Amino acid sequence: DNAQPKKPDWIRVKAPGGKGYQDTHKIMRDHGLSTVCEEAGCPNVGECWSQGHATMMIMGEICTRGCTFCNVATGRPDALDVFEPGRVADAVKKLGLKHVVITSVDRDDVADGGAEHFAMTIRAVRKQAPDTTIEILTPDFLKSDPGALETVVGARPDVFNHNLETVPGLYPSVRPGARYFHSLRLLQRVKELDPSMFTKSGIMVGLGENRESVMQVMDDMRAADIDFLTIGQYLQPTPKHHAVDRFVTPDEFKAYENAAFGKGFLMVSATPLTRSSYHAGDDFARLRAA
Ligand code: SF4
Ligand code: SF4
Repeated sequence: DNAQPKKPDWIRVKAPGGKGYQDTHKIMRDHGLSTVCEEAGCPNVGECWSQGHATMMIMGEICTRGCTFCNVATGRPDALDVFEPGRVADAVKKLGLKHVVITSVDRDDVADGGAEHFAMTIRAVRKQAPDTTIEILTPDFLKSDPGALETVVGARPDVFNHNLETVPGLYPSVRPGARYFHSLRLLQRVKELDPSMFTKSGIMVGLGENRESVMQVMDDMRAADIDFLTIGQYLQPTPKHHAVDRFVTPDEFKAYENAAFGKGFLMVSATPLTRSSYHAGDDFARLRAA
């Protein structure tokens, strides 16, 4: 798309390859698992997979929502696979992960939004890999029956992550079908249900937001007791997706990071290539050791 600003040289991506990468790829294939790393065309896949870090995407590869930044296909998903939690647990064990991030598509077609499936997956991983810390990155359960969130929180993941994705003013064009205050409140309720659970959220920048609105999102997040924050540059997956408004400079990211620590977040990752799950395990291990 010629109208798009040119990628600056700070968006540098390591090409996928090497033994670690191949091993991760094989374990995912052998277990019939999807990863958001591939589905979202994440720029960090070369780096992450060579270290055995991958974010598994459960509940299928077809999403009932159509966020305009997201490369996952929209449509009518298949029925949930009751054997998937076991396969995820097995893959986590084989990969020898210290920390796993598990995410999913949105399942507005299922009454509980897939909450029980998430809970089963968490329990299966705990059983097979008791030393692995578990981070889940969930949908918003906006259309789910009451009790969905309680079901997921009750399975006791270590980190509950749900992304706000962007500033409230951009929701209609970036995240149609979602509601900013619903997502914020979801995270606040996690903390109310289990104050010992870490909560995490993130946004992409370069979608057309301004600095003040990013600061406001940070304040809203802290008011909802969110512990960890990620901020990364939005990259357009295909010309059909939401346009990149601009490339936020590394200095601006650094300023966001400093501001976020000043507002009381326990953990902050704000760099051009930060993604929700980027270095999640390393950061979490450092925090627990501190
Ligand atoms: Fe996968 Fe996350 Fe790494 Fe991207 S940053 S490759 S989504 S683990
Ligand atoms: Fe993509 Fe998640 Fe939006 Fe579905 S709900 S389109 S997977 S960002």
